[in-house]
Amino acid sequence: MKPAHPHRFGQVALLGRPNVGKSTLLNSLVGSPLSIVSPKPQTTRHRILGIVTLDGAQIAFLDTPGLHLGGKRAINRQLNRVARQVPDEADVLVHVVAAPRWTDEDEEVWQLVSRHRAPRLLAINKIDRFPDKSALLPFVAGITATRDYAGVHYLRANRGDGNEALLRDIVAHLPEGGPRYEDDELTDRSERFLAAEMIREQLMLRLDAELPYATSVEIERFEQEGGLARIAAAIWVEREGQKGIVVGNGGERLKAIGSAARRRMESLFGTRVFLELWVKVRENWSDDEAALRQFGYGD
Ligand code: GDP
Ligand code: MG
Repeated sequence: MKPAHPHRFGQVALLGRPNVGKSTLLNSLVGSPLSIVSPKPQTTRHRILGIVTLDGAQIAFLDTPGLHLGGKRAINRQLNRVARQVPDEADVLVHVVAAPRWTDEDEEVWQLVSRHRAPRLLAINKIDRFPDKSALLPFVAGITATRDYAGVHYLRANRGDGNEALLRDIVAHLPEGGPRYEDDELTDRSERFLAAEMIREQLMLRLDAELPYATSVEIERFEQEGGLARIAAAIWVEREGQKGIVVGNGGERLKAIGSAARRRMESLFGTRVFLELWVKVRENWSDDEAALRQFGYGD
């Protein structure tokens, strides 16, 4: 006899312009800080998979770089390429927007999601930014009057508010299928990859203006010995003059970046971490396709 509710499995893309809270949402759904978050746009540079296993369903969420207009460098084109490819892999599309704004970039994301056949849900995040909640309904009505979403959700991703209803709605739209990952698997990304991301997160948080966008991280060594991970990483910058800023007075900033990243890794990996960092120069890497491939931004 077939069970009353067949198991469901699907991939779900989180799409939106930069900085609306896609990565915060992924982390709060998965319950683990897999995808790095900062107040600066274009923090996410990769497609990050996060797995949620429920009773009777498994969802593989795909976090994406924010779709953006205007960036002219090779890295900007690469980020948009990743964002535009992910919907092809997805069974459900979640368009994340940040209340109370709908911008040209949000419209661009709508254009992308509306071209796909997969059901699309609208997730209005940062509803705490609406001091007057009665203004929320006209905001949403303005969006949905001419755009066709299968459902609308109200979220406060940094607190997990609204997640349960969103998950229920997603599951209702998933195809039947067995689980593709183990119950306790959270991502398909390696610890080596996540380590580089934890370092990049600190660069996003601790550097100002254009400098975070001039940095990239490459893991040069990753060795596990019992309960200790020995990690050596290069922080790439684009010009000699940027090196000193990352290192800071007497090496203070680099030390702070290293120890914060190390603490994040220790908590995520559940091991002790010994981390060594070097700052290196690769002229103009962010506009250089070969350097992007070397640094792991390939498709
Ligand atoms: P992404 O670029 O879309 O992945 O956005 P992030 O997840 O990196 O978040 C961008 C910023 O928005 C971060 O500073 C988050 O802490 C913040 N943020 C995320 N969700 C919320 C929310 O519900 N309310 C508020 N006020 N801020 C949020
Ligand atoms: Mg992100």
